[in-house]
Amino acid sequence: MSNGNGTPLKYTTTCQLCGFQLIDHPLSIEANGKPDERIRKFIAALMKHLEKKHPDASAQIQQLWQFFLGFLSIGQFKTEDPNLVRGMLAFGAQLRNMVKLPPIPDADIEGAAAALGFTMDDPKREPVIAAMKNVRAYYEGTLQKPAAPEAQKPLVTL
Ligand SMILES: [Zn+2]
Repeated sequence: MSNGNGTPLKYTTTCQLCGFQLIDHPLSIEANGKPDERIRKFIAALMKHLEKKHPDASAQIQQLWQFFLGFLSIGQFKTEDPNLVRGMLAFGAQLRNMVKLPPIPDADIEGAAAALGFTMDDPKREPVIAAMKNVRAYYEGTLQKPAAPEAQKPLVTL
């Protein structure tokens, strides 16, 4: 593969803990296929670096790996054990926090409202946009819950 200048295309992968760099040709990762030998060697080099230079991070990865095996295994069962259910939910939340999705721009939400047929002068357009922004905030973990309404006073006091 070339970058158009006749130079073979290579990418740099940088350790976020120390700046160590690996430079390699593009790797192809098939979502459903087995990792090929080049990827296995590349990952093995990353793991070797972590084990040697960052043993704490390496140990944490090993621990997460064990949790992930448990998560995948338990996920094949239904359980009544509330501790297992809580643990599954907590690990799932941890996984979601590790995978940061790109934020949904306001323009996409407004476009979705337009696609639903809400015109600019439709009085229901803004509430629909606000509801979609709330859903976005919920999934981004930034939803500001409104203060609980004051307890309603009885209309008639005796
Ligand atoms: Zn490093």
